Amino acid sequence: MRDVYMDNAATTPVKKEIVESMIPYFTENYGNPSSIYRRGRDSKKAIDESRDLVAKILGASSREIYFTSGGSESDNWAIKGVALGNKNKGNHIITTKIEHHAVLHTCQYLERNGFEVTYLDVDEYGMISLDDLKKAINKNTILISIIYANNEVGTIQPIKEIGKIAKDNDIYFHTDAVQAVGNIEIDVDELGVDLLSLSAHKFYGPKGVGALYIRKGVKLNPYIHGGAQERNRRAGTENIAAIVGLAKALELAYNNLESHNENLIYLRNKLIKGIMNEISYVKLNGHPEKRLPGNVNVSIEFIEGEALLLSLDMVGIAASSGSACTSGSLDPSHVLLAMGLPHEIAHGSLRLSLGDFNTEEEVDYVIENLAKIVQRLRDMSPLYERVKEDK
Ligand SMILES: *Cc1c(COP(=O)(O)O)cnc(C)c1O
Repeated sequence: MRDVYMDNAATTPVKKEIVESMIPYFTENYGNPSSIYRRGRDSKKAIDESRDLVAKILGASSREIYFTSGGSESDNWAIKGVALGNKNKGNHIITTKIEHHAVLHTCQYLERNGFEVTYLDVDEYGMISLDDLKKAINKNTILISIIYANNEVGTIQPIKEIGKIAKDNDIYFHTDAVQAVGNIEIDVDELGVDLLSLSAHKFYGPKGVGALYIRKGVKLNPYIHGGAQERNRRAGTENIAAIVGLAKALELAYNNLESHNENLIYLRNKLIKGIMNEISYVKLNGHPEKRLPGNVNVSIEFIEGEALLLSLDMVGIAASSGSACTSGSLDPSHVLLAMGLPHEIAHGSLRLSLGDFNTEEEVDYVIENLAKIVQRLRDMSPLYERVKEDK
Protein backbone atom coordinates (compact mmCIF):
# COMPACT_ATOMS: atom_id res chain seq x y z
CA MET A 1 0.00 0.00 0.00
CA ARG A 2 1.02 3.60 -0.52
CA ASP A 3 2.51 5.52 2.37
CA VAL A 4 1.91 9.24 1.89
CA TYR A 5 2.92 11.48 4.78
CA MET A 6 1.23 14.89 4.59
CA ASP A 7 1.35 15.94 8.21
CA ASN A 8 4.63 17.84 8.21
CA ALA A 9 3.17 20.59 10.41
CA ALA A 10 2.80 18.00 13.18
CA THR A 11 6.35 16.79 12.79
CA THR A 12 8.91 15.97 10.11
CA PRO A 13 11.20 12.99 9.55
CA VAL A 14 14.83 13.57 10.53
CA LYS A 15 17.02 13.86 7.44
CA LYS A 16 19.80 11.25 7.22
CA GLU A 17 22.68 13.72 7.27
CA ILE A 18 21.22 15.26 10.43
CA VAL A 19 21.06 11.86 12.14
CA GLU A 20 24.68 11.28 11.10
CA SER A 21 25.81 14.60 12.57
CA MET A 22 24.29 13.55 15.91
CA ILE A 23 25.61 10.00 16.28
CA PRO A 24 29.13 10.76 17.58
CA TYR A 25 27.59 12.63 20.51
CA PHE A 26 25.92 9.48 21.79
CA THR A 27 28.81 7.09 21.44
CA GLU A 28 32.19 8.88 21.47
CA ASN A 29 31.79 12.49 22.50
CA TYR A 30 29.55 11.72 25.44
CA GLY A 31 31.30 13.95 27.98
CA ASN A 32 29.33 16.28 30.21
CA PRO A 33 29.92 19.79 28.86
CA SER A 34 30.38 21.04 32.42
CA SER A 35 33.39 18.74 32.99
CA ILE A 36 36.89 20.15 32.57
CA TYR A 37 38.65 17.16 30.95
CA ARG A 38 39.00 16.70 27.22
CA ARG A 39 35.76 14.83 26.63
CA GLY A 40 33.82 17.49 28.49
CA ARG A 41 35.53 20.28 26.59
CA ASP A 42 34.70 18.56 23.27
CA SER A 43 31.03 18.51 24.19
CA LYS A 44 31.17 22.13 25.27
CA LYS A 45 32.75 23.04 21.95
CA ALA A 46 30.01 21.25 20.01
CA ILE A 47 27.35 23.23 21.90
CA ASP A 48 29.19 26.52 21.43
CA GLU A 49 29.51 25.94 17.69
CA SER A 50 25.83 24.97 17.44
CA ARG A 51 24.85 28.12 19.30
CA ASP A 52 27.01 30.28 17.00
CA LEU A 53 25.39 28.74 13.95
CA VAL A 54 21.83 29.24 15.23
CA ALA A 55 22.64 32.83 16.20
CA LYS A 56 24.10 33.60 12.79
CA ILE A 57 21.06 32.27 10.93
CA LEU A 58 18.62 34.27 13.10
CA GLY A 59 20.72 37.44 13.01
CA ALA A 60 21.26 37.23 16.77
CA SER A 61 24.34 37.11 18.94
CA SER A 62 25.36 33.74 20.42
CA ARG A 63 24.70 34.97 23.94
CA GLU A 64 21.05 35.45 23.02
CA ILE A 65 20.38 31.79 22.07
CA TYR A 66 19.20 29.33 24.74
CA PHE A 67 18.58 25.65 24.08
CA THR A 68 15.41 24.09 25.46
CA SER A 69 13.46 20.84 25.18
CA GLY A 70 11.30 22.16 22.32
CA GLY A 71 8.66 24.63 21.24
CA SER A 72 6.38 24.10 24.22
CA GLU A 73 9.14 24.78 26.73
CA SER A 74 10.35 27.84 24.83
CA ASP A 75 6.81 29.26 24.77
CA ASN A 76 6.24 28.50 28.46
CA TRP A 77 9.57 30.00 29.46
CA ALA A 78 9.16 33.16 27.38
CA ILE A 79 5.69 33.92 28.72
CA LYS A 80 5.96 32.82 32.35
CA GLY A 81 9.51 34.13 32.55
CA VAL A 82 8.56 37.62 31.39
CA ALA A 83 5.34 37.61 33.46
CA LEU A 84 7.11 36.74 36.70
CA GLY A 85 10.17 38.85 35.96
CA ASN A 86 8.15 42.00 35.28
CA LYS A 87 5.17 41.78 37.60
CA ASN A 88 6.37 44.89 39.41
CA LYS A 89 5.67 46.77 36.14
CA GLY A 90 2.29 45.30 35.29
CA ASN A 91 0.16 42.18 34.98
CA HIS A 92 -1.33 42.47 31.49
CA ILE A 93 -0.46 40.24 28.53
CA ILE A 94 -1.76 40.47 24.96
CA THR A 95 -1.98 37.40 22.75
CA THR A 96 -4.40 36.05 20.12
CA LYS A 97 -7.21 33.54 19.91
CA ILE A 98 -5.31 31.44 17.39
CA GLU A 99 -2.16 30.58 19.33
CA HIS A 100 -0.83 27.07 19.73
CA HIS A 101 -1.92 25.50 23.01
CA ALA A 102 1.62 25.94 24.36
CA VAL A 103 0.91 29.69 24.42
CA LEU A 104 -2.85 29.62 24.99
CA HIS A 105 -2.79 27.29 27.99
CA THR A 106 0.21 29.12 29.46
CA CYS A 107 -1.74 32.39 29.31
CA GLN A 108 -4.80 30.73 30.86
CA TYR A 109 -2.59 29.41 33.66
CA LEU A 110 -1.30 32.93 34.30
CA GLU A 111 -4.88 34.24 34.35
CA ARG A 112 -5.62 31.83 37.18
CA ASN A 113 -2.62 33.32 38.98
CA GLY A 114 -3.41 37.00 38.94
CA PHE A 115 -2.49 38.08 35.42
CA GLU A 116 -4.84 39.63 32.90
CA VAL A 117 -4.82 38.46 29.31
CA THR A 118 -6.37 39.97 26.19
CA TYR A 119 -6.98 37.45 23.40
CA LEU A 120 -7.10 39.33 20.10
CA ASP A 121 -9.69 38.35 17.49
CA VAL A 122 -8.72 37.45 13.94
CA ASP A 123 -10.49 38.03 10.65
CA GLU A 124 -11.83 35.30 8.34
CA TYR A 125 -8.30 34.67 7.05
CA GLY A 126 -6.83 34.25 10.52
CA MET A 127 -5.14 37.67 10.50
CA ILE A 128 -5.02 39.95 13.55
CA SER A 129 -5.75 43.68 13.30
CA LEU A 130 -2.95 46.08 14.22
CA ASP A 131 -5.58 48.59 15.35
CA ASP A 132 -7.04 46.05 17.77
CA LEU A 133 -3.55 45.43 19.08
CA LYS A 134 -2.90 49.14 19.66
CA LYS A 135 -6.25 49.52 21.41
CA ALA A 136 -5.56 46.55 23.69
CA ILE A 137 -2.38 48.08 25.10
CA ASN A 138 -2.70 49.65 28.54
CA LYS A 139 -0.29 50.93 31.18
CA ASN A 140 -0.05 47.44 32.73
CA THR A 141 0.87 45.65 29.52
CA ILE A 142 4.20 43.86 29.89
CA LEU A 143 4.14 41.35 27.05
CA ILE A 144 2.74 40.80 23.57
CA SER A 145 2.92 37.18 22.38
CA ILE A 146 1.76 36.52 18.82
CA ILE A 147 2.28 33.43 16.70
CA TYR A 148 4.37 34.03 13.56
CA ALA A 149 2.73 31.47 11.28
CA ASN A 150 -0.28 29.48 12.39
CA ASN A 151 0.16 25.72 12.62
CA GLU A 152 -3.38 24.89 11.49
CA VAL A 153 -4.22 27.32 8.70
CA GLY A 154 -0.74 28.63 7.87
CA THR A 155 -1.58 32.34 8.12
CA ILE A 156 1.49 34.55 8.52
CA GLN A 157 1.11 37.58 10.83
CA PRO A 158 2.67 41.03 10.22
CA ILE A 159 5.42 40.41 12.77
CA LYS A 160 7.56 43.40 11.78
CA GLU A 161 4.66 45.82 12.25
CA ILE A 162 3.76 44.23 15.59
CA GLY A 163 7.40 44.53 16.65
CA LYS A 164 7.31 48.24 15.92
CA ILE A 165 4.14 48.74 17.97
CA ALA A 166 5.67 46.80 20.87
CA LYS A 167 8.84 48.84 20.71
CA ASP A 168 7.00 52.19 20.50
CA ASN A 169 5.13 51.23 23.67
CA ASP A 170 8.14 49.76 25.47
CA ILE A 171 6.52 46.30 25.77
CA TYR A 172 8.31 42.98 25.33
CA PHE A 173 7.36 41.05 22.19
CA HIS A 174 7.50 37.26 21.95
CA THR A 175 6.65 35.27 18.84
CA ASP A 176 6.02 31.54 18.58
CA ALA A 177 7.95 31.01 15.35
CA VAL A 178 7.86 27.22 15.51
CA GLN A 179 6.09 26.92 12.14
CA ALA A 180 7.90 29.87 10.55
CA VAL A 181 11.48 28.75 11.17
CA GLY A 182 12.67 26.68 8.23
CA ASN A 183 10.07 28.27 5.93
CA ILE A 184 10.65 32.02 6.30
CA GLU A 185 13.86 34.06 6.44
CA ILE A 186 14.28 35.28 10.04
CA ASP A 187 16.20 38.33 11.27
CA VAL A 188 15.38 39.13 14.88
CA ASP A 189 16.47 42.77 14.59
CA GLU A 190 14.53 43.43 11.44
CA LEU A 191 11.45 41.80 13.01
CA GLY A 192 11.89 43.69 16.26
CA VAL A 193 11.19 40.63 18.41
CA ASP A 194 12.53 40.30 21.94
CA LEU A 195 11.86 36.59 22.30
CA LEU A 196 11.38 33.92 19.64
CA SER A 197 10.56 30.20 20.03
CA LEU A 198 11.64 27.46 17.62
CA SER A 199 11.59 23.67 17.60
CA ALA A 200 13.88 21.32 15.63
CA HIS A 201 11.36 18.59 14.77
CA LYS A 202 9.36 20.98 12.61
CA PHE A 203 12.29 21.43 10.21
CA TYR A 204 13.70 17.88 9.85
CA GLY A 205 15.63 17.88 13.13
CA PRO A 206 15.10 15.67 16.18
CA LYS A 207 12.16 15.88 18.58
CA GLY A 208 12.64 17.14 22.10
CA VAL A 209 14.96 20.04 21.36
CA GLY A 210 14.29 23.68 20.61
CA ALA A 211 15.63 27.12 21.32
CA LEU A 212 14.51 30.41 22.73
CA TYR A 213 16.02 33.63 21.43
CA ILE A 214 16.17 36.17 24.26
CA ARG A 215 17.26 39.66 23.27
CA LYS A 216 20.08 41.06 25.38
CA GLY A 217 18.69 43.04 28.31
CA VAL A 218 15.28 41.35 28.43
CA LYS A 219 14.26 40.70 32.00
CA LEU A 220 12.89 37.21 32.46
CA ASN A 221 12.96 34.66 35.24
CA PRO A 222 14.55 31.26 34.76
CA TYR A 223 12.01 28.50 34.22
CA ILE A 224 13.98 25.37 35.07
CA HIS A 225 16.08 25.84 38.20
CA GLY A 226 19.20 23.85 39.00
CA GLY A 227 22.73 23.96 37.64
CA ALA A 228 24.49 26.82 35.89
CA GLN A 229 23.89 25.65 32.32
CA GLU A 230 22.76 28.08 29.61
CA ARG A 231 24.29 31.09 31.35
CA ASN A 232 22.50 30.27 34.59
CA ARG A 233 19.11 30.60 32.95
CA ARG A 234 18.08 27.06 32.00
CA ALA A 235 19.37 24.24 34.17
CA GLY A 236 19.97 20.61 33.19
CA THR A 237 22.76 18.71 31.45
CA GLU A 238 22.62 19.71 27.81
CA ASN A 239 21.17 17.34 25.22
CA ILE A 240 24.29 17.63 23.09
CA ALA A 241 23.36 15.28 20.25
CA ALA A 242 19.96 16.96 19.89
CA ILE A 243 21.48 20.44 19.98
CA VAL A 244 23.98 19.47 17.27
CA GLY A 245 21.07 18.05 15.27
CA LEU A 246 19.03 21.22 15.69
CA ALA A 247 21.88 23.40 14.41
CA LYS A 248 22.52 21.07 11.46
CA ALA A 249 18.81 21.03 10.59
CA LEU A 250 18.63 24.82 10.71
CA GLU A 251 21.72 25.15 8.53
CA LEU A 252 20.29 22.76 5.93
CA ALA A 253 16.91 24.50 5.98
CA TYR A 254 18.39 27.93 5.32
CA ASN A 255 20.92 26.72 2.75
CA ASN A 256 18.02 25.37 0.69
CA LEU A 257 15.26 27.81 1.59
CA GLU A 258 14.55 29.01 -1.93
CA SER A 259 14.24 25.61 -3.60
CA HIS A 260 12.36 24.24 -0.57
CA ASN A 261 9.79 27.03 -0.85
CA GLU A 262 9.51 26.87 -4.63
CA ASN A 263 8.87 23.15 -4.49
CA LEU A 264 6.35 23.36 -1.65
CA ILE A 265 4.42 26.24 -3.16
CA TYR A 266 4.16 24.39 -6.46
CA LEU A 267 2.85 21.23 -4.77
CA ARG A 268 0.57 23.20 -2.45
CA ASN A 269 -1.07 25.15 -5.25
CA LYS A 270 -1.54 21.98 -7.27
CA LEU A 271 -3.12 20.25 -4.28
CA ILE A 272 -5.47 23.18 -3.56
CA LYS A 273 -6.50 23.44 -7.20
CA GLY A 274 -7.08 19.70 -7.47
CA ILE A 275 -9.25 19.59 -4.36
CA MET A 276 -11.30 22.60 -5.50
CA ASN A 277 -11.81 21.10 -8.94
CA GLU A 278 -12.71 17.59 -7.84
CA ILE A 279 -14.85 18.23 -4.76
CA SER A 280 -17.94 20.42 -4.30
CA TYR A 281 -18.79 22.40 -1.16
CA VAL A 282 -15.16 22.97 -0.19
CA LYS A 283 -13.68 26.11 1.33
CA LEU A 284 -9.99 26.96 1.65
CA ASN A 285 -9.16 28.11 5.18
CA GLY A 286 -6.42 30.61 5.90
CA HIS A 287 -4.98 33.50 3.93
CA PRO A 288 -4.84 33.18 0.13
CA GLU A 289 -1.31 34.67 -0.09
CA LYS A 290 0.15 35.18 3.35
CA ARG A 291 0.36 31.49 4.18
CA LEU A 292 3.04 28.89 4.85
CA PRO A 293 4.39 27.30 1.67
CA GLY A 294 3.36 23.77 2.64
CA ASN A 295 -0.04 24.42 4.25
CA VAL A 296 -3.37 23.31 2.83
CA ASN A 297 -6.41 23.56 5.10
CA VAL A 298 -9.89 22.99 3.74
CA SER A 299 -13.37 22.60 5.17
CA ILE A 300 -15.40 19.98 3.40
CA GLU A 301 -19.10 20.35 4.07
CA PHE A 302 -21.28 17.40 5.15
CA ILE A 303 -18.21 15.46 6.23
CA GLU A 304 -17.05 14.55 9.71
CA GLY A 305 -13.32 15.14 10.17
CA GLU A 306 -12.53 11.99 12.14
CA ALA A 307 -14.25 9.72 9.62
CA LEU A 308 -12.33 11.43 6.85
CA LEU A 309 -8.97 10.94 8.58
CA LEU A 310 -9.67 7.25 9.22
CA SER A 311 -10.65 6.70 5.59
CA LEU A 312 -7.52 8.51 4.39
CA ASP A 313 -5.42 6.36 6.72
CA MET A 314 -6.91 3.24 5.13
CA VAL A 315 -5.43 4.26 1.79
CA GLY A 316 -2.09 5.16 3.38
CA ILE A 317 -2.50 8.93 3.68
CA ALA A 318 -1.42 10.61 6.93
CA ALA A 319 -3.19 13.94 7.47
CA SER A 320 -4.68 15.94 10.30
CA SER A 321 -8.01 17.48 11.18
CA GLY A 322 -6.38 20.58 12.61
CA SER A 323 -3.58 20.32 15.11
CA ALA A 324 -2.21 17.03 16.41
CA CYS A 325 -2.98 18.27 19.90
CA THR A 326 -6.72 18.43 19.28
CA SER A 327 -7.03 15.01 17.72
CA GLY A 328 -8.57 12.65 20.22
CA SER A 329 -10.91 15.36 21.40
CA LEU A 330 -14.07 16.10 19.49
CA ASP A 331 -13.95 19.84 20.01
CA PRO A 332 -13.60 21.69 16.75
CA SER A 333 -10.42 23.70 16.27
CA HIS A 334 -10.26 26.93 18.30
CA VAL A 335 -8.43 28.51 15.36
CA LEU A 336 -11.21 27.82 12.84
CA LEU A 337 -13.86 28.94 15.34
CA ALA A 338 -11.94 32.20 15.93
CA MET A 339 -11.96 32.72 12.16
CA GLY A 340 -15.74 32.60 12.29
CA LEU A 341 -16.41 29.13 10.90
CA PRO A 342 -19.60 27.57 12.24
CA HIS A 343 -19.11 24.45 14.40
CA GLU A 344 -20.37 21.98 11.83
CA ILE A 345 -18.06 23.31 9.12
CA ALA A 346 -15.05 23.47 11.44
CA HIS A 347 -15.71 19.81 12.21
CA GLY A 348 -15.21 18.82 8.60
CA SER A 349 -11.83 20.43 8.19
CA LEU A 350 -8.70 18.79 6.89
CA ARG A 351 -5.08 19.90 7.09
CA LEU A 352 -2.60 18.53 4.59
CA SER A 353 0.88 19.86 5.29
CA LEU A 354 3.53 19.23 2.67
CA GLY A 355 7.22 18.70 3.24
CA ASP A 356 10.50 18.19 1.41
CA PHE A 357 9.85 14.48 0.82
CA ASN A 358 6.45 14.85 -0.87
CA THR A 359 6.20 14.36 -4.63
CA GLU A 360 3.86 15.49 -7.37
CA GLU A 361 2.71 11.90 -7.78
CA GLU A 362 1.68 11.85 -4.11
CA VAL A 363 -0.32 15.03 -4.62
CA ASP A 364 -2.20 13.36 -7.49
CA TYR A 365 -2.80 10.29 -5.34
CA VAL A 366 -4.23 12.40 -2.52
CA ILE A 367 -6.55 14.39 -4.79
CA GLU A 368 -7.90 11.23 -6.41
CA ASN A 369 -8.43 9.36 -3.15
CA LEU A 370 -9.80 12.32 -1.22
CA ALA A 371 -12.43 12.90 -3.91
CA LYS A 372 -13.47 9.23 -3.78
CA ILE A 373 -13.64 9.16 0.00
CA VAL A 374 -15.65 12.38 0.22
CA GLN A 375 -18.09 11.01 -2.33
CA ARG A 376 -18.50 7.76 -0.37
CA LEU A 377 -18.94 9.53 2.99
CA ARG A 378 -21.44 11.96 1.52
CA ASP A 379 -23.43 9.14 0.00
CA MET A 380 -23.96 7.89 3.54
CA SER A 381 -24.80 11.32 4.97
CA PRO A 382 -28.48 12.22 5.53
CA LEU A 383 -27.49 15.90 5.60
CA TYR A 384 -26.04 15.68 2.12
CA GLU A 385 -29.14 13.84 0.88
CA ARG A 386 -31.27 16.75 1.99
CA VAL A 387 -29.02 19.27 0.22
CA LYS A 388 -29.26 17.33 -3.00
CA GLU A 389 -33.07 17.14 -2.70
CA ASP A 390 -33.30 20.89 -2.11
CA LYS A 391 -31.49 21.64 -5.34
C1 LIG B 1 4.67 22.16 17.25
C2 LIG B 1 4.39 23.52 17.74
C3 LIG B 1 4.67 23.87 19.09
C4 LIG B 1 5.18 22.88 20.08
O1 LIG B 1 6.51 22.49 19.82
P1 LIG B 1 7.06 21.15 20.48
O2 LIG B 1 8.51 21.14 20.12
O3 LIG B 1 6.30 20.03 19.88
O4 LIG B 1 6.85 21.27 21.95
C5 LIG B 1 4.43 25.17 19.47
N1 LIG B 1 3.95 26.09 18.61
C6 LIG B 1 3.68 25.78 17.33
C7 LIG B 1 3.16 26.84 16.42
C8 LIG B 1 3.88 24.49 16.86
O5 LIG B 1 3.59 24.20 15.59
